[in-house]
Amino acid sequence: IITFENVTKRFGKLAAVDNVSLSIREGEFFALLGPSGCGKTTLLRMLAGFETPTEGRILIDGQDISNVPPNKRPVNMVFQSYAVFPHMTVADNVAYGLKVDRVSKAERDRRVEEALELVQLGGLGQRKPDQLSGGQRQRVALARALVKRPRVLLLDEPLSALDAKLREQMRTELCTLQEKVGITFIMVTHDQDEALALASRCAVMSKGLLQQVAAPNDLYEFPNSRFVADFIGSVN
Ligand code: ATP
Repeated sequence: IITFENVTKRFGKLAAVDNVSLSIREGEFFALLGPSGCGKTTLLRMLAGFETPTEGRILIDGQDISNVPPNKRPVNMVFQSYAVFPHMTVADNVAYGLKVDRVSKAERDRRVEEALELVQLGGLGQRKPDQLSGGQRQRVALARALVKRPRVLLLDEPLSALDAKLREQMRTELCTLQEKVGITFIMVTHDQDEALALASRCAVMSKGLLQQVAAPNDLYEFPNSRFVADFIGSVN
């Protein structure tokens, strides 16, 4: 459903994303993987509408979305930092986007409860973010995106702020969540293990270039370059 067609993004002389062509299918858990600075976040931000490609096109269902503003795109982004409002309750944090969209109070309450249940925060709606653990705060950010019922959820290093144990637990939860809601997840990460554990397919990037797109197993077994082999940690 999502197609990047020869997409390039330049910041001055630097091509942060360099002529990337890529298709992501409906309902898949897709990971953008690569070392820091390889351009994966920039690629995601262009899809979300926070950056404009210097060249090339991004299509959703065959439609060029260049002129569609971020809030009208069928994608919703969960940020690296939790981005929850500390002064608002959990429920108000989750309801925020619906309020902006002028969804009625009754409908809001229903959807907020549903989203909190989905991320296993049922009953915690009246807490403030500082009364939650790191993992729970991360789930508030997830609920806030899910409550808008996007077709595509964009996750930028969703687990990087968590300690190793929580990260492991949230990995499993993210997987279950994706299966439950059945929408497309696109996750940016520099952590190979995380990408390989979660994604149905991964795109490996280096210096703005797309190196390989494949299922985790195929990246292991058939890396198409030295770079991919080293990065994935394969012995070939
Ligand atoms: P990280 O995991 O560290 O966030 P990344 O792979 O997501 O890395 P990007 O954030 O996409 O990488 O950045 C790619 C390159 O583009 C980097 O060299 C970065 O410094 C540069 N870059 C990103 N955003 C801007 C900007 N707004 N202005 C100038 N350069 C930028």
